[in-house]
This record gives sequence, structure tokens and C-alpha cells, in this order.
Amino acid sequence: MPIPEDVPKRVRKFVFDHFLEHAAPPIVEQVMTAFSLSREQATDVLHSLEAARHVALVKGTARILMAFPFSAGATPFRVTVRGRRYFANCAWDAIAFHAMLRNDIRVESFCHHCAAPINLEMREGSAVHVDPEDVLVYLALPAARWWDDIITTCSNTMVFFASPEHREASALCASPGSGVSLTPDQVHTLSVPLYGKKMDLDYARPSKQSLLDHFATMGLTGDFWKL
Ligand SMILES: [Zn+2]
Repeated sequence: MPIPEDVPKRVRKFVFDHFLEHAAPPIVEQVMTAFSLSREQATDVLHSLEAARHVALVKGTARILMAFPFSAGATPFRVTVRGRRYFANCAWDAIAFHAMLRNDIRVESFCHHCAAPINLEMREGSAVHVDPEDVLVYLALPAARWWDDIITTCSNTMVFFASPEHREASALCASPGSGVSLTPDQVHTLSVPLYGKKMDLDYARPSKQSLLDHFATMGLTGDFWKL
């Protein structure tokens, strides 16, 4: 039997609901059972969600590693919301929980240079507690390269630094001017069109042009932000 047309979007929602409730992804067998699919069909649906940039799978498997912003593996980006704790994929994804859920969130992370603790609280669209106060989010790769290998991009190149000095001391910032630094508030604003409707059944990623327009309204222009 062919896969009904609405199954991929329902599986996407199932994955995100499962992550929200359990802080872990569902497995293929759960997708097979919940949607009456064969293993091959369930695997095909997960691969289609990966191609549509909703999830990233562990290479060579049908295991869900990332459903942005959720991470199945332990990371340096801990998020607490409504009394539940999650791992986010990167500094951006950690802050994006606020746009996705519209609840107060607490982020516990580390300076990528010196491992000093970093703590943030986001409420009603802005950072209400930032410790240390000079915390910045550093994006090392230009936007056009984020999806070359999203697992590497998320895991290694979107991080917190305690201060500009620690950013400059880090090997990640080897060529000055190649990356950008953003405040937590800017990262929240950046997140809204990408994450604001993630928990809706009909969520669709914004088009390239609408993302570029959003970048431009934030003053984020130039080569780094080209897609
Ligand atoms: Zn540091």
C-alpha cells in the first residue's frame, strides 16, 4: 500500500511531540506502529523529513539525531522549560526553544573557549538574565554553508562565548571577520520565522527569499548572510 500523502507531515509532528514530551526522539518501530507502515516505508518517511531539513539522522541509519532544535545526544546546550530539561543542538537552537514554545526558558551552557558556565533566561521575546553579561552567540560559518553538513555545523560552529576576548582567543575564530557575533535577543528574533510554528502540524520551513528578507529587516546583510 502506498504511503498516504499526509503521513510525512504527521510523522514530523509525531517526532516533535515525542521530543517535547520525552526529551528523546521516537524510534523507527514507533513510527511503524503509530502510522501502520512497513520498516521500509517508515525509513523512507524519515529520510524524506531529513531531505526537507526537519531532522538529521545518524549517518547510515534511520535513528533521529536532531529534530531542530532538539538533540537526541548530550550537548553543551541545556534548556529548561516548563520544568523539563532538553539538549539543544547548538547555541542558536538553545535560544530557539523560546520562539518555538513561547514559554520562559533557561539555558545552561559553556564558553566555547574556556568552559566557563553561561546562563541565560529568555522571557517574552528577550533575554532577562544573561550571565556573564557580555555573552555572545558566534556563528563561525556563513549562512550558505550551514547545510553543507548540518550535523557538523550545529555541533561545532554555533557556540557561546563568555566575551569578545574569549571569542578572539578561540581557534574557532581563526580568521577574523569570517564569522558573526549576535546577542541572545538577536538570535531570538532570528529564530521566530524558522521555529515559531515548529509544533504546528502544517509547519513548513520559510523560503530562501523570506529568510533573506528577514535577515535584511534585522540589518543582517553582506556576504555572510547570502543563501
Ligand atoms: Zn571563556
